Amino acid sequence: MQVHYQVMSWDFETDAEYQKLLDWADEFVRTKVEPMDYVYKNPYDKSDKEAVAALKPLQKEVKDKGLWACHLGPDLGGPGYGQVKLALLNEILGRSSWAPIVFGCQAPDSGNAEILAHYATEEQKKRYLQPLLDGDIHSCYSMTEPQAGADPALFETKAVRDGDGWVLSGEKWFSSNAPYSEFFIVMAVTDTEKSTYHGQSMFIVPKETPGVEIIRSTGAGPDTSHQSHSYIRYNDVRLPFDALLGEEGGAFAIAQTRLGGGRIHHAMRTIAQCRKAFDLMCERALSRRTRNGKLADLQMTQQKIADSWIEFEQFRLLVLRTAWKIDKYQDYMKVRKDIAGVKVAMAKVYHDIVQRSMQLHGALGISGEMPFSSMMIGAQVMGIADGPTEVHQVTVAKQVLRDYEAGDERWPSAHIPTRTAEARKLLGVDK
Ligand SMILES: Cc1cc2nc3c(=O)[nH]c(=O)nc-3n(C[C@H](O)[C@H](O)[C@H](O)COP(=O)(O)OP(=O)(O)OC[C@H]3O[C@@H](n4cnc5c(N)ncnc54)[C@H](O)[C@@H]3O)c2cc1C
Repeated sequence: MQVHYQVMSWDFETDAEYQKLLDWADEFVRTKVEPMDYVYKNPYDKSDKEAVAALKPLQKEVKDKGLWACHLGPDLGGPGYGQVKLALLNEILGRSSWAPIVFGCQAPDSGNAEILAHYATEEQKKRYLQPLLDGDIHSCYSMTEPQAGADPALFETKAVRDGDGWVLSGEKWFSSNAPYSEFFIVMAVTDTEKSTYHGQSMFIVPKETPGVEIIRSTGAGPDTSHQSHSYIRYNDVRLPFDALLGEEGGAFAIAQTRLGGGRIHHAMRTIAQCRKAFDLMCERALSRRTRNGKLADLQMTQQKIADSWIEFEQFRLLVLRTAWKIDKYQDYMKVRKDIAGVKVAMAKVYHDIVQRSMQLHGALGISGEMPFSSMMIGAQVMGIADGPTEVHQVTVAKQVLRDYEAGDERWPSAHIPTRTAEARKLLGVDK
């Protein structure tokens, strides 16, 4: 058995010029953006005029600093820093639910913009991509269905050719931000004879199109302030032929392009949440007393801190190395294993650190006066959104096994008697 590991050089320094921008972003988010989280509710809700008025000048500061839409290349109005630098920035932005919008890189718009840039016609780009990039509108990605999420082979929403266009019908579920979006990108079956990989297509559906019905929207967890994941019915929605995004039958490939980027960007922002929970844990350990001294003096607290620090650092390094690989290969398919591994680790590390920190905060920790319960839901979300943990574990295992081959059925390659006999023969040792 011989496994070939890649050789790589190592450099953990951030270049000095970019570090200055990160320092600026850190201070800016801390002093001007994080306060938005405590005062305003939904960053996507443009009907909140007071919030929009507070947001605009902040977005201008970011644009003036050259940090607007850092996930995009210069051709689309971003600086094209690449994924490693984006990761370092997202580690800051992930602290605040408003920061991604202030910096023009919020999900799901960021992923939608990427696929529009990749697959849209010039006309579609003018109509949908440009206002999205300018931060003037929001968009929705409508793929999951009430009866099927993790397995796209079970999707039923369909689009059929009829006269001068398509007729779209079916139901979608958990289409985030639909109530605040100008258009939806909808995945639909267009050829039942073909496999999932070639029988589904993407469509751009303006929200006001007759037949688009938002049945209701739900939030995640008990917080009712963000009821933005929508259950949508497409009631024989008539679309022109040019509503098709990319090639007919190309939806699966488009979805893969979009979700690869989306997953790693979520992980970058999750680093910020893990760090926040960890910082609170350490602060609490040093502040809270029992009769035997501070919580920090108790070994079981020390174990929580040590385990959390180690898991956090491992996770962060995995995210950064994956970002580095995306920059290197410029091909998400070549980084599938890494992204799937990050996706699995993200939910677990986030959950475990938050759980320990919450525990150290006692009753206060579980109360609505601390952020832990929404962080716990956030960790659970990371194990489901963009595909459940189990599906990504399967991807990791399958990809890992590609680098191995079967050995002898009976004796493994490290079987000592077999290896000893081989070694004796090789070395010419008789006894
Ligand atoms: C906060 C949030 C935002 C979302 N936003 C969007 C959005 O904007 N647009 C959109 O289209 N979707 C969105 N989703 C939906 C998301 O993509 C799906 O929830 C996800 O793909 C899982 O689908 P499901 O919920 O139907 O779970 P199911 O497919 O029913 O799976 C349920 C559980 O079954 C188990 N399971 C499923 N498949 C396997 C398997 N192959 N092996 C082992 N176990 C398995 C897992 O434990 C899994 O969690 C969002 C979800 C969340 C939580």
